[in-house]
Amino acid sequence: MQTRYIFITGGVVSSLGKGIASASLGALLQARGYKVRLRKLDPYLNVDPGTMSPYQHGEVYVTDDGAETDLDLGHYERFTGVASRQSDNITTGRIYSTVISRERHGDYLGATVQVIPHVTDAIKEFVLSDPGEAEFVLCEVGGTVGDIESLPFLEAIRQLGNELGRERTMYVHLTLVPYIPSAGELKTKPTQHSVKELLSVGIQPDALLARCDRPLPPGEKRKIALFCNVREDAVIPALDVDTIYQVPISYHEQGFDNVVVRHFGLDKEPAGQAEPNLGRWEHIAGRIRAPEGEVKIAVVGKYTHFLDSYKSLNEALIHGGIHNNVKVKLDWIESEIFESEGAIEKLEGVNGILVPGGFGERGSEGKIAAARFAREHKVPYFGICFGMQMAVIEVARHLAGIAKAGSTEFGPCEEPVVGLMTEWMRGNTRELRSADANVGGTMRLGAYDCALKPGSRVAEIYGQQQISERHRHRYEVNINYMKRLEEAGLTFSGMSPDKSLPEIVEFADHPWFIGVQFHPELKSKPFDTHPLFASFVQAAIAQSRLV
Ligand code: GLN
Repeated sequence: MQTRYIFITGGVVSSLGKGIASASLGALLQARGYKVRLRKLDPYLNVDPGTMSPYQHGEVYVTDDGAETDLDLGHYERFTGVASRQSDNITTGRIYSTVISRERHGDYLGATVQVIPHVTDAIKEFVLSDPGEAEFVLCEVGGTVGDIESLPFLEAIRQLGNELGRERTMYVHLTLVPYIPSAGELKTKPTQHSVKELLSVGIQPDALLARCDRPLPPGEKRKIALFCNVREDAVIPALDVDTIYQVPISYHEQGFDNVVVRHFGLDKEPAGQAEPNLGRWEHIAGRIRAPEGEVKIAVVGKYTHFLDSYKSLNEALIHGGIHNNVKVKLDWIESEIFESEGAIEKLEGVNGILVPGGFGERGSEGKIAAARFAREHKVPYFGICFGMQMAVIEVARHLAGIAKAGSTEFGPCEEPVVGLMTEWMRGNTRELRSADANVGGTMRLGAYDCALKPGSRVAEIYGQQQISERHRHRYEVNINYMKRLEEAGLTFSGMSPDKSLPEIVEFADHPWFIGVQFHPELKSKPFDTHPLFASFVQAAIAQSRLV
């Protein structure tokens, strides 16, 4: 089957959940037996989101091939199980830097380089590149229709509709149908305006996803169809749901997958199944709705009032709950508070403590205090990346007698138990860094193998001795301190294959105390919980029976 392209745009306001909508449509087509790929076109000028603050952008999602990408790629992967790649996320910054370097190279010699056709050609090249075996490529356009920034992307997808033909392209537009309490009505006007905006750049949507907080009455649906020139059954009400994992089911109930296959003429000669198999999603939603118990986990971090910064982590903990059939109640705590006297008591009564990835000195002492509390009170502790580094500093200071233990991330340090990584192996190639190198895209990024110590806790949890996990860090635990830390009770249970980089530490004299240098949350799926999250939540359940 030839690859077909579905473009998803958004209108009216941002934050309508275009990422989840795209991911859910991907899951739905997959449930009908089709192979899918999802891509994101981001209108900002950063080459990638790696240099943006979590407050600006939310989580940076890292792929196996080491790309720092938009967090929507995490949704795509969680909903479809298809591993995202560098080639699945492009930004205006990357497009322009490609076009400008081609210009300098002389590739356009003689021509005036312009948005149309040079920039739009580069965008189209990206959209069409490397579809692999995908029968459907779903392309989400970031931003909201009407923004200046997204115009070249809209122009490029408009051209693609012309070039590939309508039988190979489809435009889906996500809008908002707000309820106005004083009128007691759902209003369709913003949707009409948003579609008008899209029409002004030459795109006629084929289907509309109408976000609403209550059922869309047939009259309103007809009105949207009429004014927006969309078939009535292609106006899909996208009602608010209690869990994001319900979205594929609810889209199917509204007939969305039928509209899509009909658009491509696949209803007459289906290459997939006539009905999707949604068993997986029903099981997940069922477990979320009817858990058998509850555990309380404290997440001690820095960006806790902006939860998009911890998107994958939040989901992975939910997956741990699904796996163990419990509700995981999360207590997001700003680590800095533990730097004040007596505040640590806040952690009494929690069944698990997780210190996630992070950057910079602010709040680090609070994280060290949280790790200490977990170790001393035998509360399950999960340290991820920065959370592992802080736990190692904690053990160094309080058990190994290295009072001045610290990280060079915070400046010069007498006892650099955590230090800058300047050299490491990626397969057979040596990667080199220096303190004054560019910051964009230069961390240790992406999938690296790790060898687990036979008989260790983590080897038991993973059920294997060779694993591969995704990384995003610049600092590492300094192996020169390994011997002293081991004598203090810390086991180095996961190492890079050349044994130079500590990847996992665990504390044996404890119910569950594990620190990992990588980000396991990036690979967890609702239908395939990451083993560390499954095990951590299980340890929290065991702990909850003790309190
Ligand atoms: N700031 C730390 C480093 O660069 C940890 C990074 C992280 O937690 N992702 O090594």
